[in-house]
Amino acid sequence: MVPEMETVMTLAASVAAQLKDPSLFTERCYVDGAWTGAEGGATFAVDNPATGAIIGHVPDCGAQETDAAIAAAGRAFQSWRKTTAGERAALLERWYALMMEHADDLARIMTLEQGKPLAEAKGEIAYGASFVKWFAEEARRVYGETIPAATADGRIIVQKQPVGVVAAITPWNFPNAMITRKAAPALAAGCTIVIKPAEATPFSALALAVLAERAGIPKGVINILTGRPAEIGGALTKSPTVRKLTFTGSTRVGKILMAQCAETVKKVGLELGGNAPFLIFDDADLDAAVAGVMASKFRNGGQTCVCANRIFVQDGIYDAFADRLAAAVGKLKVGDGLTEGTTIGPMINKAAIDKIQSHVDDATARGASVVSGGKVGEGLFYPPTVLTGTTTDMRIAHEETFGPVAPLFRFTEEAEVIAKANDTPFGLASYLFTRDISRAFRVAEALEFGMVGVNSGSVSTTTAPFGGIKESGLGREGSHHGIEEFLEMKTLHLGGI
Ligand code: NAD
Repeated sequence: MVPEMETVMTLAASVAAQLKDPSLFTERCYVDGAWTGAEGGATFAVDNPATGAIIGHVPDCGAQETDAAIAAAGRAFQSWRKTTAGERAALLERWYALMMEHADDLARIMTLEQGKPLAEAKGEIAYGASFVKWFAEEARRVYGETIPAATADGRIIVQKQPVGVVAAITPWNFPNAMITRKAAPALAAGCTIVIKPAEATPFSALALAVLAERAGIPKGVINILTGRPAEIGGALTKSPTVRKLTFTGSTRVGKILMAQCAETVKKVGLELGGNAPFLIFDDADLDAAVAGVMASKFRNGGQTCVCANRIFVQDGIYDAFADRLAAAVGKLKVGDGLTEGTTIGPMINKAAIDKIQSHVDDATARGASVVSGGKVGEGLFYPPTVLTGTTTDMRIAHEETFGPVAPLFRFTEEAEVIAKANDTPFGLASYLFTRDISRAFRVAEALEFGMVGVNSGSVSTTTAPFGGIKESGLGREGSHHGIEEFLEMKTLHLGGI
């Protein structure tokens, strides 16, 4: 055996040994119902951001393997589209049950490759699985329409049909849920799918494929490829077989993919970056507002698209709020996500750490004060940080920080803070805390964002539409609207009835 092979086997064995079901950890891609490698056997390494240790290797696929996966999905579509809603629902229910049964292992794989605390990873597995259950149920509720025709013997009927082969490209921050939010409605609608997970978190995706196969989902219906992003993305967007691209990730990459999809006029669903404002008025319940910021800002170490990026606090409570937030932040525990009690894991990579530090340095150079944290720790750990005196000329006001930094902006007037909150090309999540119900409606309706948390730091649940406006994206995931993204309308015009 070559030494390199030996290392690969040892690494994989060490991760698998931590699982109740070691077969959930696989280093192969899943295409056309087979566990495959890249042409020529190329692989790339995946590490644990908490320790830097390599946890395994996955195939480094490119255009050729992608074309094969698209062809498999195209073949499978011909029979999958003809299954009944009840048959698809039963398979999705089975997939859901397997995810819940193996939640501990799926969570451990996620923490090992992504870093988030194990309890959060378990929460994500349940959240991710809930989309599979929801869309299993929604599969049975794809209704058409009848429309009055212009003539007495005419009829107009609208049918819903699956879009076709779907391509999904997903990020590393929610390695499970960002896949299930796409794959479940696609499959429920009768589409087949080719998924490319993020390079940092392929093992969570591949574990889902193991369970999909076990659930009995037919070959070619779900395909998961790891490898070179631009090349795989290029092949997926170029293919006329692929009829829809669903992407979650940065606005920069979303724009590239949207442009590439223009050539074949694909349907496009985009869940992109955010720059969420969090407005706290003088009349807010301060404890609830602190709890809201803690939930919104520090979940997943601040690496979420909906996390509070700009916290606007009204003059009268600014100092009291800063004190209470700093006290709550002081209780967070930074560490390896597998260590009991950890509430903030490592950042995903060095580039993320550099960006966070550059935002903090820019803010302090322009006059902000660090109330807690503010300096990079060991490895990829960044301390939860509170900044006061931040102003809208700072980088942190305009760019997604994607880390555990809470900048507090002071404001006086309602109209002023609405204008500042909307002064961004992004429009994903926003939040406001007030006890005045008129203000709550007035401000919520004036905020140019796809979602508004009113006295709540959470805007994401299976049953409600999730998505952004402006440069935060197109389309919605979750809720009964989520399946519509994977359906086409066909209008039948009947005469002589
Ligand atoms: P990213 O855009 O760098 O990567 C996302 C995915 O795109 C990855 O799988 C990556 O490999 C792939 N990719 C990169 N370049 C590509 C290319 N040229 N062609 C095809 N694919 C390519 O984003 P990220 O750093 O993984 O994720 C963080 C970003 O995702 C943040 O901006 C965050 O706000 C956003 N996000 C949005 C939502 C949402 O629902 N709106 C949810 C989670 C994350």
